[in-house]
Amino acid sequence: MTTTAATPLLKVRDLRKHYTTPKRWLRPARPPIQAVNGVSFDVARGETLSLVGESGCGKTTTAKSVMRLVEPTSGSVQLEGRELLSLSAEDMRMRRRDLQIIFQDPYASLNPRLTAGDIVTEPLRNFGMGAAAERRERVQWLFSRVGLRPEAVKKFPHEFSGGQRQRLGIARALALNPKLIVCDEPVSALDVSVQAQVVNLLMDLQAEFGIAYLFVAHDLAVVRHISHRVAVMYLGHIVEIADRDTLFSAPLHPYTEILLSAVPVPNPRTPARRMLLQGDPPSPANPPSGCRFHTRCPMAQAVCKEKAPELSERPSSSATGSHLVACHFR
Ligand code: SF4
Repeated sequence: MTTTAATPLLKVRDLRKHYTTPKRWLRPARPPIQAVNGVSFDVARGETLSLVGESGCGKTTTAKSVMRLVEPTSGSVQLEGRELLSLSAEDMRMRRRDLQIIFQDPYASLNPRLTAGDIVTEPLRNFGMGAAAERRERVQWLFSRVGLRPEAVKKFPHEFSGGQRQRLGIARALALNPKLIVCDEPVSALDVSVQAQVVNLLMDLQAEFGIAYLFVAHDLAVVRHISHRVAVMYLGHIVEIADRDTLFSAPLHPYTEILLSAVPVPNPRTPARRMLLQGDPPSPANPPSGCRFHTRCPMAQAVCKEKAPELSERPSSSATGSHLVACHFR
């Protein structure tokens, strides 16, 4: 399949992940948990698209479904125009060369019995890249590029600080020159001062190598700093997607407005009106009818209970992209 400059690097369409619980004798069947329910978006080369929303909104499941670390129920995920969901396990393994992931807790994803050098060498060896001396040289280069000292290759993961471990996770993800890295809450377990260093490192690497990020986060200050575009998720759906500046300065969906009202304002003399979300999110096993947000929306009308709003285009002041919103009244 040929790709053109206009082909997005990643194209996700109508992605669904429903978890079913096994039927038990004498127990009525439970409805499936609709963790992700018809999500569509594109990520361009060298772009950062962030997925945000409350915990349980489906952002991490979406990101892991793109990687096929959880197997989607249906939908389409194309990388450079090639469908990933129909690939065999072996073909998918080969495709992961272009598609890497950085986890929230790097410690849990690093083999504690391997040295840091071996951890970063492993993907190179698995994909047969270079001779042993070339791999050693590349690992040294990767260590220096992510800000780890050369002698750190001999250390084990438990000998690193949290920030250094995340740098090690980044070096491992970078080893194969990926086109897209899924960042699953990569800084939320780190101290605030270290968070800024790791976020800036990710941005520098993007500028240098043109990597795209699918960035999952709940910290909106971090999202505002790193993103080109932002998709807001609620109960398994995208409810608004726009470029970063439009979303933060002129959000349209009531849920986005409420989420953003909690973000610290850069100028403390500017009055901020903090809005609070009413109640808990409904269960994804039994979502509300119509607009899924209607049980908590301060603007809800009768129609909201009956009819689900489409995610559709609104006029955008931005030259860089479209503004899509799922609301009957915005
Ligand atoms: S469609 Fe109705 S309930 Fe949903 S966000 Fe818009 S106003 Fe609120």
